Amino acid sequence: MIIPSAADVIRAWELGKDRVSWYRAMLMLAPTYPDLPFDDLAEMSIGERNRNLFELRSRLFGDTLHAQVKCPECATIVEFDLEISDVLNMTSGVTFTEEYEAVLEPFVITYRLPNSADLQAMDNVGTKGLNSPDYIRNCLKKVQNRNGETVLENVPEKVIRMVKELISEKSELAELNLDIACSECKHEWLSNFDIVEFLWNEFTLQAKQLLNQVHTLASRYCWREADILAMSAVRRSYYLQLQNDVE
Ligand SMILES: [Zn+2]
Repeated sequence: MIIPSAADVIRAWELGKDRVSWYRAMLMLAPTYPDLPFDDLAEMSIGERNRNLFELRSRLFGDTLHAQVKCPECATIVEFDLEISDVLNMTSGVTFTEEYEAVLEPFVITYRLPNSADLQAMDNVGTKGLNSPDYIRNCLKKVQNRNGETVLENVPEKVIRMVKELISEKSELAELNLDIACSECKHEWLSNFDIVEFLWNEFTLQAKQLLNQVHTLASRYCWREADILAMSAVRRSYYLQLQNDVE
């Protein structure tokens, strides 16, 4: 995986600042796939997209992720750590614009997994909307009866239900639910963890810190933004330290 540069992080943040979740996910992943057109990236299944975002987070900011969630019963903020290597170990492998075939007599069904292009078409319904029948219909590529006739227009409900089940089994990490327990009221619940939102917040923080560094160093040395961002983090922080020492 190619790791986004300091300039990439700022670029993703400025382009995604006022955009919806699926688009932000694409912006964060785009630098890691420099040869992949944006439309192709949007065809990556949601599960694989999330797997890549977890891996990106691990490479950029470390394997341990510190998160917090509000208890739905008593509103206490519950903090927890998540090891990304544990999350990735729960998954079996890669699925990338792959087609699957299933049989439910008398139908032979070809389908694919939901992707970001679907989220865009569905007006960013969020990954929970992936379970709606309309959404599942989007994922059907071909449905044929035993005579070889294509019946995509009139697919029975039982086929939709079966494909929904199959998609759910294959969509590892499309939705990650964590067992959380409140330390105050002892309430236990399943909490959805959104890697897009989490990593976006980290990108935002990182972008602002980098711009602050550019501001400080450019003010002092009159260096160009691109040159400052092209420096290693070690070198940038050394100059910033010198700046602090002078003050
Ligand atoms: Zn509680």
